Amino acid sequence: MMLVKCFKCKEKSEKETMICIEKGKEKITRKYFHQGCYDEFVQEQELKEKDLKELDQLYKFLIKLHSIELLDGRMMEKIQDLRNGSIKVNNKKMKKYKQGISYSLMLDTYKFMNERIDSIINSMKFQTKWNEFSYIFGTMVNNINTIKQIEKLTDEVNQKPTINKETVDIVVKKNNKKDALDISAFL
Ligand SMILES: [Zn+2]
Repeated sequence: MMLVKCFKCKEKSEKETMICIEKGKEKITRKYFHQGCYDEFVQEQELKEKDLKELDQLYKFLIKLHSIELLDGRMMEKIQDLRNGSIKVNNKKMKKYKQGISYSLMLDTYKFMNERIDSIINSMKFQTKWNEFSYIFGTMVNNINTIKQIEKLTDEVNQKPTINKETVDIVVKKNNKKDALDISAFL
């Protein structure tokens, strides 16, 4: 009987019952997982990848928006804090949201406010790019709930699997009645 340690939960189990992942060509490294732990691990990796892709898109959008070459440490910190759900109040990091805001939601919000951002950049004079970034970031944060609501509504509409026939009949009848009324108003 040979015991190996699970890469994910660090518990030891019989080697034969574990999933083994091999990596490398000349120097092969092996990682062992419990079945359940492996599924979790794969899911986490996928989420991480998705997160990284979304961050990349947000990053590219922001350097273009502010005409800068890169986002500096302070800017990245703001973005990461919002992603993780922590926010600074009087220089102390506090939990503000139950869960962090995804990078894609931030990007959607920036895009939604496109016109307002343009007018802010054109009409206000910021001393530094950091001031500009901070101001617009704050405006974006204040609008996240609006975007969340819009996306929730859109999801609800898209997720309606099949429309109940009875509902359709009622809607049609109502519409007919309304049309009739509308027409009679012109007569
Ligand atoms: Zn495990």
